[in-house]
Amino acid sequence: MLITNIQRFSLHDGPGIRTTVFLKGCSIRCPWCSNPENLNGYPEKYNKNGIEGIYGKEYSCDEVYDEIMKDEVFYEDDGGVTFSGGEALLQADNLIPLIKRIRKKGITVAVETCLFVPQKNVECMMPYVDFFYVDMKILQENQCLGILGGDIHLYKDNLKLLTEQKQIIIRIPVIGGYTDGKNNREAIIKEIKRYENRILKIEMIKGHNLGKSKYESLNMEIPQCNDVSDDFMEQYRKEIENVVNIPVLICRI
Ligand code: SF4
Repeated sequence: MLITNIQRFSLHDGPGIRTTVFLKGCSIRCPWCSNPENLNGYPEKYNKNGIEGIYGKEYSCDEVYDEIMKDEVFYEDDGGVTFSGGEALLQADNLIPLIKRIRKKGITVAVETCLFVPQKNVECMMPYVDFFYVDMKILQENQCLGILGGDIHLYKDNLKLLTEQKQIIIRIPVIGGYTDGKNNREAIIKEIKRYENRILKIEMIKGHNLGKSKYESLNMEIPQCNDVSDDFMEQYRKEIENVVNIPVLICRI
């Protein structure tokens, strides 16, 4: 597995105390991405204020397992491990043997995904994952392809497949000028309505620009995205709550 970070004591990536494993490599390119070191699926040199290093390290299944088990005592009933990225499902083949071992210890496993991955990657992971956090970003076909570089039909097919077997948590990044437009909000709410019975919770995420120093370390241009107001977040939340009976949380990062 190619990993950039194993973050212990995470509190925002699922229930309880969790260890979050960030896998390197993503299938799309969100202009507001705060993890640019996880975009490319290969190790990359960085330079942080004159200090050089490499983003991405190959781990064996045993090595990741040993890291994760260091915090076994903290996971208790509902804590566990979250695989994030990048796009964790791109490394599904490597993850499955690891996840099987983790679950044998009674530890829960969550995966964060944008769902722009081959269908077989979703299918093979479904039996082994307790919670899927699914991003819902841009659902208009042309914008999805033009801005994210993602095929909306692949996303929708994967969402249908996943919700046939699993209940999911939806994450909506609310980014001014990209995901906040009326047509996109309507498309998102329509999709949420379609799977209302399979969605446990919706998390609206406000905030970005967190990866500035990482962009600089990679000599990449820092993305400029507009913030949205708290009033707008509340209005959007009400638009969703008016249509579906699902808890909607506003999260700030
Ligand atoms: S899906 Fe996540 S990791 Fe990939 S580009 Fe978007 S924000 Fe970044």
